[in-house]
Amino acid sequence: MRSFKQELVGVFGSPVAENPTQVMMEAAFAQLGLDWRYLTVEVHPEDLRDAVAGARAMNWRGFNCTIPHKVAVIPYLDQLTPAAELIGAVNCVVNQEREWIGDNTDGKGFVESLTTVRPIAGIRAVILGAGGAARAIAVELALAGAAELTIVNRDHARREALLKSLRERTGAACNALPWEGEFAIPEHAELLVNATSVGLYPNQDALVPVDLSTLRPGLIVCDVVPNPPTTRLLAEAQQRGATTLDGLGMLVSQGIIGLRLWTGLEADPIVMRRALAAALQ
Ligand code: NDP
Repeated sequence: MRSFKQELVGVFGSPVAENPTQVMMEAAFAQLGLDWRYLTVEVHPEDLRDAVAGARAMNWRGFNCTIPHKVAVIPYLDQLTPAAELIGAVNCVVNQEREWIGDNTDGKGFVESLTTVRPIAGIRAVILGAGGAARAIAVELALAGAAELTIVNRDHARREALLKSLRERTGAACNALPWEGEFAIPEHAELLVNATSVGLYPNQDALVPVDLSTLRPGLIVCDVVPNPPTTRLLAEAQQRGATTLDGLGMLVSQGIIGLRLWTGLEADPIVMRRALAAALQ
């Protein structure tokens, strides 16, 4: 029997025909027997304040927000989690007894996915990129006890800004390097993360400029690109015996974290991954 009232969460973003995240979240709701909806709502930047007020008025349980709203939404919320504050961006909002809390699950999804293969404490990581995804991942790795973070990025200003906030706000040893030619993974690195958009559909033939001979067994290679799940970097890393983690797993983990924050329940990653992969086809 249907419950009297359906709970609502949603995503504030740009226009899309069928949002794969919506498909994934609603598959998880159905599997948990929840009569909830996850709505995709197109919100223009000038309407963001009204959209948040609307979600509050309708007592939604929360919402995700995507580009271009991740930073702009902050003034309309009541509180930020420490990670969202440090990252400077929000992608998951939770209605906690009418207090609207902004969180960031980009990096948390990554960390949750990585802990399936090894603990984070003490890890030495190289992160390619210094944009939103790289920042979220670097912050969460640092907060989870990574020993060393090396940021590699083309753009000097973005690279240095990330380095500065990591050094000021976390205890991890950090450094930043320019990206010139093919980057050789240092021998002591245990984790390589591609946090750039290189390899994302429809440019799936692109390969990040790394020295492929430095990919090796024992190294964990992760790619944030969710589509296609097996990027050229991951295929090359697999061929050379490295352990790999894909961006699809990171997106699923983010969905699980959001669903946990909104409902207090644990969703099934297999059901969610299957739904997400089908929606991205
Ligand atoms: P941003 O635009 O904030 O950052 C893009 C980054 O990619 C910058 O560091 C940029 O470098 C770098 N970059 C782009 N093109 C190249 C290139 N040809 N060579 C080297 N570096 C390059 O984007 P986001 O951080 O928001 O997103 C990055 C990727 O992460 C996207 O593919 C997105 O889909 C994915 N993502 C995945 C998530 C998941 O859960 N799986 C979650 C969030 C994002 P520079 O500064 O030098 O220009």
